[in-house]
Amino acid sequence: MLITKKVKIKVNCGNIKYITSAGYSVKIKDEIDFYLNKLPKGSHINIDCKCENCGIIKTMWYKRYNQCTLDGNEKYFCNKCKYLKIKETNLLKYGVENVMNIKETVNKMKETNMSIYGHECSLHNSEIKEKTKISFIKNDSINEGKKTRKKTCISKYGVENVMKNKNINKKQRETMMLLYNVENPGENIRLFRDDIVPYEKLSELVKYRRKVQTITNKNKVNLFDNWDGYDYYDKSYIYNNFNILHTDTNYPSIDHKISVYYGFMNNISEEIIGNISNLCITKRGLNSSKNKKTEDEYKK
Ligand SMILES: [Zn+2]
Repeated sequence: MLITKKVKIKVNCGNIKYITSAGYSVKIKDEIDFYLNKLPKGSHINIDCKCENCGIIKTMWYKRYNQCTLDGNEKYFCNKCKYLKIKETNLLKYGVENVMNIKETVNKMKETNMSIYGHECSLHNSEIKEKTKISFIKNDSINEGKKTRKKTCISKYGVENVMKNKNINKKQRETMMLLYNVENPGENIRLFRDDIVPYEKLSELVKYRRKVQTITNKNKVNLFDNWDGYDYYDKSYIYNNFNILHTDTNYPSIDHKISVYYGFMNNISEEIIGNISNLCITKRGLNSSKNKKTEDEYKK
């Protein structure tokens, strides 16, 4: 919804022609209130508009507002509420909020699953489910990365972990000391990511993250077993996305609804953040776009 009704415009030789043609009687250097409905749709003037869902007020070019709302003919939703617009469009186009509610779509999917897995829903095939579960829980990118790293290390330095090589270890500690005034690089890798966290608090955050991760790991199996295959945030069906490369933005991943970072900054216990009720499954891409935000903040 457009909040701004009129904007202050200073008359100059570049716009006087347009302003007079819009019915204003002005001279150069005048400052006038110009009604938005008389402004060209492509104007770069800043206006305020309100998200129809969360009510957040955004400032943007009038041009951008018109692009988002098809010249004001559609409702405005902020970036985080856009998914509602998708629902609305689906309702208009197909008569349902989620395309998965269309019989033909579902039937088509069932047919495909039937021919591939012998079951209407690939989740019903216990073998597939078990396989997927294992790959989901074990073969995440971190483990893959670790394996490759180990191999590289052994072939290069003759040790699994590069830090076991005394020379490298010493050199690394010296560098870390020089750069960040700490010896252990592991504790400080997050410097780059959590640049808002003051240095003294950093190692606390690392410890917090680890503890949350341990609790989260314990809940992975349960989370997966109770999952219906839908993305928690945009409600799209992503179970079949296990078939794509795990680095793909559409690959399912675990998200903390209240982010670990938020939990740390607000003194929420690790048990709550790692608790199964705070976990959900979403696409990797959505997860990283959510980043440090909580569920509520993200939906805005
Ligand atoms: Zn919104």
